[in-house]
Amino acid sequence: MRMLLAGEWVDRAETIDVRDPFDNSLIDTVPSATHDDVETAMAAAFAARATARRMTTYERSRILLKTAAIVAARVEEFATTIAREGSKTIREARKEANRTVNTLTISAEEAKRLNGETIPFDSFPGGEHRRGHYERVPIGVVLAITPFNDPLNLVAHKLGPAIAGGNSVILKPATVTPLSALKLTEAFLEAGLPKDVLQTITGNGAVLGDALVADERVRMVSFTGGLEAGKRITTRAGLKKIGMELGSNSPVVVWRDADVEWAAETCVSGAFWAAGQNCIGVQRIYIHRDVYDRFRDLFVERTKAYRIGDKLDEATDMGPMITEAEAERVERWIAEAVEKGATIAAGGRRSGALVEPTVLENVPADATIHYEEVFGPTVNLYPFDELDDAIASANSADYGLHAAAFARDIEICYRLVQGLDAGSVLINDSTDYRLDSMPFGGIKGSGLGREGVKFSLQEMTEPKVVCWYLPELKKL
Ligand code: NAP
Repeated sequence: MRMLLAGEWVDRAETIDVRDPFDNSLIDTVPSATHDDVETAMAAAFAARATARRMTTYERSRILLKTAAIVAARVEEFATTIAREGSKTIREARKEANRTVNTLTISAEEAKRLNGETIPFDSFPGGEHRRGHYERVPIGVVLAITPFNDPLNLVAHKLGPAIAGGNSVILKPATVTPLSALKLTEAFLEAGLPKDVLQTITGNGAVLGDALVADERVRMVSFTGGLEAGKRITTRAGLKKIGMELGSNSPVVVWRDADVEWAAETCVSGAFWAAGQNCIGVQRIYIHRDVYDRFRDLFVERTKAYRIGDKLDEATDMGPMITEAEAERVERWIAEAVEKGATIAAGGRRSGALVEPTVLENVPADATIHYEEVFGPTVNLYPFDELDDAIASANSADYGLHAAAFARDIEICYRLVQGLDAGSVLINDSTDYRLDSMPFGGIKGSGLGREGVKFSLQEMTEPKVVCWYLPELKKL
């Protein structure tokens, strides 16, 4: 596929192969953008601010709804692209395509709810005879940088609100999964988005990143990805807004009165969704000792029943990791934990990019797989006796995106809500639940700011105050 630059679909002599991680087959190629292309994209995006700003609310909303309708009409085609270029099975990919329709629809709706407020200027001496309000105006150029693991919906989470807010956008999708983003770009143009309002450039983030991020024409960097790249971007961005949706190491606490069967069922899905390459995937589960054995047995039984393999086969539960190198990293982390005393209750083996769904027990606190984000199909089980100890252990990682708890006693539930440090606490669900309109984001190493269409729209617009001095009002 080609990339969209200054209103044209362009090729480059140097290209990047996009391969299916399951069998390494070549799906397509995309251009490898150069620094000159970054400059072209910047100049075009900066010039297109006026076009983007002048689109009426009605037009923005109509384009977003039409894009949603295009994706809805071609869910199978989008799902197949997601499943082929990424790690998701076709069933997981279909869910992502349908969520994308929702994200774009909410963006169309929120475009119409972008309101200001009146301001009581006479509420302090000196403000007499003044009337006014603030309205929300576009921020200008938004730079959107997206990861591989939700290659369509996380792109929609940036393009939807940016366009709803009247901004011009430069999109840099993940190099391993650029095709879903390019297809969504095509859908936006088909829906009537002026061609120059969106630049979708493909290329290596580490090579192009600094030039994109540091450019003063960009007013906001909306980044979703890993902690390392996120930290680098924050040091390069300079004076502009940044939104940071980073990784996690999500904990779950299972209290002794919990519905253990449901907890095991939903946590298995939460741990192995997208082969564990999921920013809200379950990584550590703290289980009250009274129900530990039962939970472990149910969890292991369900894990062993998982069918792994070909992503396009409807019967497959879990596909490969995004690259063989990533699978080797997870294999190393499992081996390190075992060397330090962990035991494997299920899985543990790797073949190419496929890592078996793996359940670990007795994982020591100094094992990388305990304290770092694993971003792979492994989960650690730990018994506990005291609730406060479980909460302290759950909070021990330097991340805080989602945390979850299973309990029936409402007071225990509330202690968990108050005690768990995270952007969201899910009760009687695994950490792997998100509604696309809710405020989504984390604390500590999990990021800065919140996504979720309405919240992104606030970030991607700014208030402009209008104040009228009307001395004649004295006479009324
Ligand atoms: P990544 O390696 O950080 O890459 C994310 C994006 O950043 C890619 O487009 C990448 O380009 C680009 N990039 C890399 N280095 C850059 C730099 N120096 N400057 C600018 N851009 C740069 O992350 P990933 O492996 O694709 O995704 C996995 C991570 O994303 C995990 O940590 C996961 O938890 C996190 N994530 C968070 C959320 C959330 O909402 N909180 C959602 C999903 C994923 P290249 O592809 O060319 O390297």
